[in-house]
Amino acid sequence: MKIVKERIRNAAVLSGRDPESIRLVAVSKTKPAEVIMEAINAGVTILGENYIQETLQKLKTKELDTGLPSPVSWHFIGHLQTNKAKYAVKIFDLIHTVDSLKLAKELDKQAKKIGKVQQILLQVNIGMEPSKSGAAAEDVKSLIREIISCKNLSVKGLMVIPPFFNDPEKVRPYFSALRDLADQIKNDKLLMSAPNIAMDELSMGMTADFEIAIEEGATLVRIGTAIFGKRD
Ligand SMILES: *Cc1c(COP(=O)(O)O)cnc(C)c1O
Repeated sequence: MKIVKERIRNAAVLSGRDPESIRLVAVSKTKPAEVIMEAINAGVTILGENYIQETLQKLKTKELDTGLPSPVSWHFIGHLQTNKAKYAVKIFDLIHTVDSLKLAKELDKQAKKIGKVQQILLQVNIGMEPSKSGAAAEDVKSLIREIISCKNLSVKGLMVIPPFFNDPEKVRPYFSALRDLADQIKNDKLLMSAPNIAMDELSMGMTADFEIAIEEGATLVRIGTAIFGKRD
């Protein structure tokens, strides 16, 4: 934990950025509640989870179901099925992986039911990999245009999961492409004048490549292995 925070700080300083502008999302998928509690006690403030069912189960454990408000913010970073939207809005402060109008509309509907404005990021398939989720880069603007009328959604920025490479330098173009896309959207005055649209967050970078992501402008880095060790 300490080492990871130190590495985030160093990468920020080296690229002339304020370390405070980068938030660590500790990715706790497959890790039990006791391990999560240790991370919270060590100073983690945001937890990232990939599966709704798994998160619901963890939140029922004696460690995490204390009756007090959660000491941490929970972010959803996995693939979200429309039929799980109703659970997602109850648990998560930020959903990183919205990639279709269908999912956005369902989240809007479910958020409205519980009187919440759900913060979301739009996941972009920068590499155009057929197997990966994420909206195509050229469709993101039209997706945002539709979300303007979703009053219970608030778009905060973009997210990417690049393809895997052994050489982390190879992911840099994906990170810079995500930043460029966010910049293009920021230049669109019509989109940016909508009260529920912002482009403040770039969710990119994992254990193997987060320093490069920070150099390219990441504001949320999603780190699992470097904090919790290898997953089984
Ligand atoms: C599992 C996961 C991570 C964390 O990956 P590590 O390599 O363990 O840091 C980050 N983002 C997403 C979307 C993930 O599914």
